[in-house]
Amino acid sequence: MQDSGEQQNRGPNLSQAGAVLTIDLGAIRENYRLLRERLEGGQCAAVVKADGYGLGAAAVATALRREGCNAFFVAQAAEGISLRRVLGEGPDIFVLNGIHPGAEDDCAAAGLIAVANSAAQLAAWQAAARRRGQRLPVAVQVDSGMSRLGMAQAEVESIGRDAFDGLDLKLVMSHLACADELNNPVNALQRKAFEALRRMLPDAPASLANSSGIFLGGAFHYDLVRPGAALYGVNPTPGRENPMRQTVRLAAKIIQTRGLEAGIGVGYGHSFRSTAELRLATIALGYADGWPRRAAAVAWHRGRKLPFAGRVSMDTIILDISALSPEEPAPGDLVELIGERQTIDEIAALSDTIGYEILTGLGHRFHRRYEGG
Ligand SMILES: *Cc1c(COP(=O)(O)O)cnc(C)c1O
Repeated sequence: MQDSGEQQNRGPNLSQAGAVLTIDLGAIRENYRLLRERLEGGQCAAVVKADGYGLGAAAVATALRREGCNAFFVAQAAEGISLRRVLGEGPDIFVLNGIHPGAEDDCAAAGLIAVANSAAQLAAWQAAARRRGQRLPVAVQVDSGMSRLGMAQAEVESIGRDAFDGLDLKLVMSHLACADELNNPVNALQRKAFEALRRMLPDAPASLANSSGIFLGGAFHYDLVRPGAALYGVNPTPGRENPMRQTVRLAAKIIQTRGLEAGIGVGYGHSFRSTAELRLATIALGYADGWPRRAAAVAWHRGRKLPFAGRVSMDTIILDISALSPEEPAPGDLVELIGERQTIDEIAALSDTIGYEILTGLGHRFHRRYEGG
């Protein structure tokens, strides 16, 4: 394993960047331990697709290796190939979308485990094994009721036992559509369907639960669980208290401050107008950085709340800083936008989306700081 420092993409340096994203790898490690402690046996994998939900797959996976995590899931072949370079030989790397036609040899050479979602993907992977004269590891995804990826019953029935000749079946898996709804009856139906489909395949370890699935109880854990979002601090139990730690802080620099008389329009469309004398600060962060244009939130400066004034622009947001004393803040000072005080899930709620979308949308112009790897 290389030193984790080399694997962290830190983005532009602090003085040139408009905002700083701090990623607390210690908190991600703690979240991993919290999830693992809920299991009654079985393995806790980590889903690091979409560059570790936007936080840096290399840094996250390296940190979780130190917690003993031995299985990682990515969505795409290219993500798997990069991750293998980071982690070296040893840990399992599963490619959830399976291998697109033509990429089999590169993936086999990188020691990736193809998730076969269809009989066609399975046959192509088997053909690659034959061609290469090499046994290849494979996982099979069955569709237990989400209708997204995986083989439905008829397709499982259509594959013969010899479909696995030359392959090592490492995992039979499926995915829950409604795991974040504790009392949704679909969960139990999918579990039953999963049991039935499993029995039609050769014996292999099984996996059904994502983050929220872990909180449905031991019957959903099987041999391996596949949390993503919960590792990064998104609440896996919506509507109930978040059992996970926050893992990111986002702070943006103040570019400029100004005083304003009453009755003046602020920002695009003058959607905000001062009703009294105000002080404003413009900060270096906007919707191009993944901040949802619809999320009219607040920023924080030394514990004081600074409401947004007017529309979010591409590269800037205007804050009402009237609550601060006239000497503060100074240009270059940082105000906090995401952290314990205003979580990813709260920003998601303000813009009618989910924490997953906020996390994976966080931009590439931030200076990134990694702590606690
Ligand atoms: C993304 C994904 C996961 C992780 O889901 P979270 O809700 O982020 O925990 C697990 N399994 C599959 C198949 C996925 O696509």
